[in-house]
Amino acid sequence: MKIHEYQAKSLFRKAGIAVPEGTTCTAKEDIAALIANMKMPVVVKAQILAGGRGKGGGVILGKTKAEVQTAAEKILGMQLVTRQTGEAGTKVKTILLEQGVAIARELYLSLLVDRDRCGIVIIASQDGGMDIETVAAETPDRIIKVHINPLLGLQGYQIRELIFGLELSTPVAGEFAALVKKLYALFTEYDGSLVEINPLVITRDDKVMALDAKMDVDSNSLFRHPDIKAMHDSSEEDELEVAAAAHGLNYIRLDGSIGSMVNGAGLAMATMDLIKQAGVEPANFLDVGGGASAEMVENGFRILLSDSNVRGIFINIFGGILRCDVLAEGVVAAARKVQLTLPVVVRMEGTNVEEGRRILAESDLTFNNATDLNHAAELLAAI
Ligand code: ADP
Ligand code: MG
Repeated sequence: MKIHEYQAKSLFRKAGIAVPEGTTCTAKEDIAALIANMKMPVVVKAQILAGGRGKGGGVILGKTKAEVQTAAEKILGMQLVTRQTGEAGTKVKTILLEQGVAIARELYLSLLVDRDRCGIVIIASQDGGMDIETVAAETPDRIIKVHINPLLGLQGYQIRELIFGLELSTPVAGEFAALVKKLYALFTEYDGSLVEINPLVITRDDKVMALDAKMDVDSNSLFRHPDIKAMHDSSEEDELEVAAAAHGLNYIRLDGSIGSMVNGAGLAMATMDLIKQAGVEPANFLDVGGGASAEMVENGFRILLSDSNVRGIFINIFGGILRCDVLAEGVVAAARKVQLTLPVVVRMEGTNVEEGRRILAESDLTFNNATDLNHAAELLAAI
């Protein structure tokens, strides 16, 4: 789960990592009062869960209160397009009004999980502030990588490797070492999958400070981090996926036209293959899970149908813990409620299959029953 820059900075602050003073704002009428007591210059920063905001016009430095006011009014509410948002962009609902810092050097520093080596890697570069992907592609020798064994933790020699690689002067080296230690502790304590500071700056008065903060936490660990869970902003996620998650359903929206409802993630993957092999494209992945109730099936079916790209539906159930009759009840109830007109192909086998088929047959709805997977594919191709 990604968190916003201002949220990551609040964690940094608590961990003793220096960040500029700042305050968030969500309403244009509050801007004037918030900047009244701030020292100029102030940087106005769009808070969206995507990078590249500076280049997209989402970060503006104002030297006077009037400039800050204009920049803040412009950014708050704008549809910000960056190389990570896609063409439609993301609406800016919160801005960060932050103390402008006199920058001497902009560095890059990040920590991430290195799955290949089963460890943590620290990546640093003297070329911060800009596109790190470009630096890595064009001047790979300017990227420093330090691999950490999580059982041993961050070692002194590894911090020195970073200090030498970044060519830090003696006055800032000590402060940098303390920052890296705190960042490593924060990363491991919060089950981070990424913490990125770009730029990490050396100020003109030799202070080390995080001007940007990106943090991604392993979603599977949220049960033990209620403070991070509370930071979740679902407004930038797909609304159908958010609705599905609220019902405990495993749903991912795709861009095809055949909606599918399946029990079991493996069968759901195989079903998507089957749909593609039939010459059509899946509109979603939906695993209703083993212990789904008729109500959950109904919710899943309704969510599936709210996607306006869906032209046909494929229900592929191997009844085990989820019994075929429970599934059929949920499907019939949902189909009635939404006055279903789309074609539905049903392939159902397993526990209580006869009862399930009876419920579907006795409903006043029309379902195309597939005798097996090949037959299902033929019916799908005909949709
Ligand atoms: P993004 O990476 O999304 O473009 P950043 O937070 O890195 O956003 O901001 C872009 C640039 O704006 C930074 O590289 C830095 O040069 C400048 N900047 C950001 N915050 C401040 C600040 N508080 N003071 C001075 N300059 C800043
Ligand atoms: Mg940045």
